[in-house]
Amino acid sequence: LGAFDVVIVGGGAAGITVAAGLRKYSRGGRNLSVAIIEPSDRHFYQPGWTLVGAGVFTMKQTERPEASLIPPGVCWIRAAASAFEPERDRVTLPNGMHVGYRALVVCPGLQLNWSAIDGLTETLGRNGVCSNYSADHAEYTWRCIQALDGGNAVFTQPAMPIKCAGAPQKIMYLAADHLRRHGKLRDVGIDFMLTGEAIFGVPFFVPPLLATAKGYGIRLNYRHTLTAVDGPARKAIFSVTGADGAVSELVKPFSMLHVTPPQGAPDVIRNSPLANEAGWVSVDPATLRHTRYANVFSLGDAAGTSNAKTAAAVRLQAPVVVRRVVALLTGGPATATYDGYGSCPLTTEYGKVLLAEFTYGGKVEPSFPLDPRVPRKSNWLLKTRFLPYLYWNRMLRGSEIDIPHKPRRFEDAR
Ligand code: FAD
Repeated sequence: LGAFDVVIVGGGAAGITVAAGLRKYSRGGRNLSVAIIEPSDRHFYQPGWTLVGAGVFTMKQTERPEASLIPPGVCWIRAAASAFEPERDRVTLPNGMHVGYRALVVCPGLQLNWSAIDGLTETLGRNGVCSNYSADHAEYTWRCIQALDGGNAVFTQPAMPIKCAGAPQKIMYLAADHLRRHGKLRDVGIDFMLTGEAIFGVPFFVPPLLATAKGYGIRLNYRHTLTAVDGPARKAIFSVTGADGAVSELVKPFSMLHVTPPQGAPDVIRNSPLANEAGWVSVDPATLRHTRYANVFSLGDAAGTSNAKTAAAVRLQAPVVVRRVVALLTGGPATATYDGYGSCPLTTEYGKVLLAEFTYGGKVEPSFPLDPRVPRKSNWLLKTRFLPYLYWNRMLRGSEIDIPHKPRRFEDAR
């Protein structure tokens, strides 16, 4: 298939943003030949899936044809990368063809490991078993929520890292609020089953989230990992690790089970020379450049960085990758760095969102001069209106590429 200046693996949030940014940033005589390797003809705004599961958006509203997003002049290779040969500057496709590059940007997202839970794939989308992590089943979440009138509504959260760490609890709060508004909150027991030992990874946001859960009467069950589902019997099986490390089994009956599947690095990365020990692309956290291959970069969910795996992170990673790729290929200075910014808009009720924004190390870095621990109506508008607009009309078009992130601490406003 020949060689390109830049090959991008994955045409999701990160791949399209980088492609559009390269086109924009390398204008003016420095036009680069760019190819995107992406197998899917559909592109989803996944941050909208929480709202799909809560009946606020339809799935259709979160989907666009991939073809409509590939920037003009960028070559779309409609296939999945099947192997990486960074020593030979080429990527292999399933048909055995090779795509060569001068610079490689790796962003195939992460892998949802549905089959790691016995019985799940057979029953997902039926028997009250739903997941906002699936384009095919997020709408079923809303049907399950509406049908709730007794028993247990069970929400699971696997081991970290997962994409949008707050998503498992966002839908739980919206389900609880729906029940409250329909006078059914007392009839349904709500359980949050987490593999981890904290409701959120950034301690600053833990107290307001615990208060939100308590307000709905939600039972928090730490160190509980979903291992199997019996859909027809409506039973979920959990492995429970006690404080002493002893492991036991719990069988939990449910009327509704919202599953967040275990997640990990894509096999194609894990089995490649690009991987770190955990299987993610091994990159420097600030430059997003590969730790061993100087012409390889990675961003988005596949990158082996410790930021929250969010589209918000991609928005600030993409300008760094674009600038560094252009500098590598045209000989300019490479100074742009990424500070680990990620954001998680936690829907605590219909009409209110707690906007958690932070950088590497869980350093709280809000964009607005207000206490970020307070759920706000303005943040709901941000989540439901502004951020989807920003994504489709600015970020994916490369318009965010020149905008540096200037976080303001809320104390500044006092
Ligand atoms: P993706 O957007 O997933 O794109 C990866 C692309 O790579 C896909 O198009 C895929 O087809 C392609 N691909 C896969 N394998 C290969 C291969 N071998 N070769 C080539 N291409 C391949 N983020 C937020 O910022 N805020 C939120 O509120 C939020 N909420 C979320 C709620 C849910 C339920 C979910 C599921 C996600 C949420 N996110 C949120 C996370 C956000 O959607 C992701 O972090 C973001 O999409 C990551 O971008 P990416 O390009 O790395 O991966």
